[in-house]
Amino acid sequence: MTAQNDTTHTRRSILGASGGAAAALAAGPALAQATTAAKSPFTVAQTTIPIVGTTDVFPVRRIYCIGRNYAAHAREMGSDPTREPPFFFQKPTDAIQFVAPGTVADHAYPSLTKNYHYEVELVAALKSGGKNIKMEDALSHVYGYALGLDMTRRDLQRALGDEKKPWEIGKSFDQSAPIGPLHRVEQVGHFKDQRISLAVNSTVKQNATLAHMIWSVAEQIVRLSEAFELKAGDIIYSGTPENVGPVVRGDTILCKLDGLPDLSIKIV
Ligand code: MN
Repeated sequence: MTAQNDTTHTRRSILGASGGAAAALAAGPALAQATTAAKSPFTVAQTTIPIVGTTDVFPVRRIYCIGRNYAAHAREMGSDPTREPPFFFQKPTDAIQFVAPGTVADHAYPSLTKNYHYEVELVAALKSGGKNIKMEDALSHVYGYALGLDMTRRDLQRALGDEKKPWEIGKSFDQSAPIGPLHRVEQVGHFKDQRISLAVNSTVKQNATLAHMIWSVAEQIVRLSEAFELKAGDIIYSGTPENVGPVVRGDTILCKLDGLPDLSIKIV
C-alpha cells in the first residue's frame, strides 16, 4: 500500500512537471518578450575598439588567438611545426587594453608571474561570420585590422601545459590584449606579407614578415569556423613570430606593422 502510494505520488510529480513545461512552452513568446523587457540589476560594459577615420567603435564579441602560427616560434616553444598544426585559444573580451596611436600606455605588470612575455601580432576583426566558411569567402568577412600584443605569463603557461591543465591563467588574464585602433579594409587592404616587429627599450627583439604565418588570415577564418560559429565582432590574434621574451617594470615595448600606426606600452 505504501509502495503504491509512493508510485502514485511519483507519477503525479512527473505529470505535474511535464504539465508545467507544457504551460511554459505555450507561454513561450510572452516569456521571451518579458525577458527582453526585463531590467538588469547592473550594467556590464561592452568592450569596443575605436575605428580609424570614423567616430564609430567596433564592439568586440570574442577574442580568438592562434597559437604557434609561425614555424620559428613553434620551434622555440618546443614543438615541431611540421607535425603539429597551429591551434586556437581565447581571451576574455575585456582583456582588451586600447592604446591610442602616438601614446605610450601604462600597462600594469600582472600578478602571479615572474616571466612576463610580449608577443606582437596582426589582429583581424570580423564584420560577419558563419560555420564552415570557404577559403574563397573567408576574407569577405573581415572588417579591418589592428596591431596587437598577446601578453603572456610564460611561466604559468608552461607550468600548466606541463601539468596538462588549461593554460587560461597564463594567457587569458586582465589587460592581456593591448591593441591599437581598427583600420577598415577599404583603407588598408588585406595583410599578408608586411613586416612586423617589436622592440624593447629601442632594441629590436621580434622581426619577421606576415608571409611566415603558417595559416594566413583567410585560413585562420576557415579553420576557426570549423570549430566555432564565427560572428560579427569576433577578432582574431594571428599568432606571433619568433624571439618572444620577457619584460620587467620600466620597460617600453614598441610594435610596428607596415601599413598601421605603431603600438607602444610601458610596463609599470
Ligand atoms: Mn600569441
